[in-house]
Amino acid sequence: MRKNSGFIYVIITCLVFLNVFVYSKIITREIPEIVYENTENTQNLPENEDENGKNELDENYKYITVTENDAKSGPLILVNTLYPYDFDAFPTVVHTEENASVYYNKTDSYFVKDINVSLNKTTISAFNDFIDDFYSSVGKKCVIITQGFRTYEEQKEMLELKIRQYGENQTVAQKPGFSEHHTGYAMDISTYENNIMGTFTGENEYAFIFDNAYKYGFILRYPQGKEDVTGISYESWHFRYVGVPHAQYMYENGLTLEEYIKLLSLYPFESGHLKITDKNTLEEYEIYSVKVDANSASVPVPKDENAVYSISGDNTGSVIVTIKK
Ligand SMILES: [Zn+2]
Repeated sequence: MRKNSGFIYVIITCLVFLNVFVYSKIITREIPEIVYENTENTQNLPENEDENGKNELDENYKYITVTENDAKSGPLILVNTLYPYDFDAFPTVVHTEENASVYYNKTDSYFVKDINVSLNKTTISAFNDFIDDFYSSVGKKCVIITQGFRTYEEQKEMLELKIRQYGENQTVAQKPGFSEHHTGYAMDISTYENNIMGTFTGENEYAFIFDNAYKYGFILRYPQGKEDVTGISYESWHFRYVGVPHAQYMYENGLTLEEYIKLLSLYPFESGHLKITDKNTLEEYEIYSVKVDANSASVPVPKDENAVYSISGDNTGSVIVTIKK
């Protein structure tokens, strides 16, 4: 009996040890395995991408690399007291056209103050179409562009002039670097009738300009009632090119560029995209934003070679992709 019970004791002791050993093996094996698998999956996935996004991506999208400078360039860049214009940002992907003299590139439907007024070429072209139609509507040449692109130095001089005129607390001119005029996408217009320049207020036949600007990609940048959002008093004369269909969406929904850029941040690639139908052409657009966190980011764009799309920075750390469907 003693021999048998001793044997059983040895067997039981062995079983207990074996059990603890196996159990501990399972525990210690499982934890690193889970961690390992997760790490592998995360590494295989593109930045900011989940499984669903990846599946969709594989079918219809490819990746392109954008730089920090791309996020600071293009027709959707927001320039205000919080987000200065970066004069040294040279984009690699965002398509920008250099500024050109309005005088040498405009149609005969409007005036320009002098040959030194310059704007982004896309902006001049869109403004030509816009004011050609205005001219056809009212039958007279009565609009003049007085201000376009401004250098850092020009803004500095303007600020100093306004401070001399109105004192240190003036709100007319922005500090150099923080004016939207640095972008080349913004302009000031006046009326010009019988050789007399007048403040553009959009009254009477000039209402055409307020009512139709969005069709050509322009917005009234500092509207009445939005002073607390833009930080700038109502300016009935300052227009900004952002492009179709963005201008239409802002016009229809009463959004400033500040509000629209914030809204677009709610449409990352992985979520539902913003869809806009151009009322005039009935063309459909799909829009999403991609954060450029570090120095660069991978941006999904349509794989189809015939797809028409554009990329613009928003100057707040993202690029916006606009696809024409
Ligand atoms: Zn202006």
